Amino acid sequence: MTETSLDRELDFARERIAAAVKADGPEAHQVAIDHLVWAHAYREAARAMDGWAQRTGDAAVRALADAAGEDARGVIRGRSMDDSIAAAVKLADIGARPLPAVDLGSAQEHQLLRTSVRDFAAAEIAPVAQALHRSDLDIPENVIAGVARLGLFGVSIPEAYGGVQAEPDTKSVLIATEELSRASLGAGGSLMTRPEILVRALVRAGTEEQKRRWLPAIASGQRLVAVAVTEPNFGSDVAGLTCRATRRADGAWEINGAKLWCTFAGRAEILTVLARTSDEGHRGLSLFVLEKPAFAGHEFQHVQTDAGVLRGRAIPTIGYRGMHTFELQFEHYRVPADALVGGDAGVGRGFYLQMEGFAVGRLQTAGRAIGVAQAALDATLRYTSERRVFGGVENEFQLVRSKLGAMAMRTNAARQLSYHAAGLLDGGAGQTEAALAKLYASRITELVTREATQLHGAMGYGEETEVSRYFVDARVFSIFEGAEEVLSLKVVGKSLLEARK
Ligand SMILES: Cc1cc2nc3c(=O)[nH]c(=O)nc-3n(C[C@H](O)[C@H](O)[C@H](O)COP(=O)(O)OP(=O)(O)OC[C@H]3O[C@@H](n4cnc5c(N)ncnc54)[C@H](O)[C@@H]3O)c2cc1C
Repeated sequence: MTETSLDRELDFARERIAAAVKADGPEAHQVAIDHLVWAHAYREAARAMDGWAQRTGDAAVRALADAAGEDARGVIRGRSMDDSIAAAVKLADIGARPLPAVDLGSAQEHQLLRTSVRDFAAAEIAPVAQALHRSDLDIPENVIAGVARLGLFGVSIPEAYGGVQAEPDTKSVLIATEELSRASLGAGGSLMTRPEILVRALVRAGTEEQKRRWLPAIASGQRLVAVAVTEPNFGSDVAGLTCRATRRADGAWEINGAKLWCTFAGRAEILTVLARTSDEGHRGLSLFVLEKPAFAGHEFQHVQTDAGVLRGRAIPTIGYRGMHTFELQFEHYRVPADALVGGDAGVGRGFYLQMEGFAVGRLQTAGRAIGVAQAALDATLRYTSERRVFGGVENEFQLVRSKLGAMAMRTNAARQLSYHAAGLLDGGAGQTEAALAKLYASRITELVTREATQLHGAMGYGEETEVSRYFVDARVFSIFEGAEEVLSLKVVGKSLLEARK
């Protein structure tokens, strides 16, 4: 079956589902929409891999791209047992040979960036990553200082505001995120994501005074950022948020209510808070920037002189440790009038600004997942080349090689899909593609880290072995920054069906 007929098949499916949705509404056809989205994700990943093979002309990349194409065909059309066996044997051939360099064909500046971030992460993050995970410690200050020194907090901030961005280059953001996450998701890989979300909102809608006040401080790493959107009763359904900001007679705002799952809220000096300023659903939400002191550890309390209080308590999690994820309680917490992003013009714009920031945040989350998947693949390639079983080396067995080949194919497919989305975002489009890359990378990272623990045998289940950390860290990607089902149905699925109207 040719690629064109595969695309036609997807188009027919899309027409059928669009017609059904038009007749009965989307909720009656969630399962069909979700299937369509996943078929599209595998197809787009294969297409991105094909582009990489064509650009590099490299035989090993071509083999990976063909395997990704076969994967997509399997998801879209299903396949016979014979075809499944043939595909798995090809993956075993891939797993038996050296893999192409991850940045084969990339521009020299991207290769240099990868090398410098990788060297930093290997020296400063990797040595502390496992202990930090197991004892749920704070991120060491030298790691934060190192990320700042490399200029990574400023990659999306225009030069005019203290950043290093001459023109949009989301691929650089992804490369840096991947390499930090390859050393540790919690102790480095997630540091850049929070500022990214706020920076988009400030650049788009902040007043000139707000940009000058916060962007240089964020770019230099002098002030770290946390983002508080989720609440106890509202996560995916952001339009329902209830944490309220009320304007006082003196123009200042007072915040009351609870937020949940706010990562880094203790250490961060800047809290981005999406709060309700009127009762008009998503149009009643506004974005605030709160300044607070940095607190170490798992609990804090910020008592304002003659005003309110903000309490935070870290929620224990199975992975993604280091930044700590907090529940927050605001009681009469007072912020000045200019804490509202965009000033008076920003009233009611919070939902839209937040969603725009999330597009890049999601793509960065794809980068975080790819970093973890790559770490799992690297560790497993190493381990299986040394471990002896049944009188041979583990990676000489066909089934092991086939699994290694599948891990390599999926990790690279997620990477190429995310780079494709990055290019589109730089051109002002690509919101759907960013969500698609996040969906795909999150799922493949679960598969890859599962195989990594499997091929490590009992060592994969040991807490001292790093792949066990990758496995629990990987679980979070499909939950946060847009739950898998919500991204599939309400972002990618919606956009695919609208494109056919
Ligand atoms: C470790 C961690 C860190 C986080 N950090 C932050 C942070 O820094 N800031 C922040 O604001 N939030 C953060 N979050 C919160 C995260 O973004 C939310 O958990 C996420 O948006 C999902 O919201 P929820 O947990 O309330 O799930 P719900 O919205 O309650 O959904 C539960 C499940 O229901 C299903 N579902 C939901 N809606 C639909 C639908 N329409 N159709 C079909 N199925 C559906 C999905 O399976 C979903 O996972 C973090 C979460 C975690 C776990």
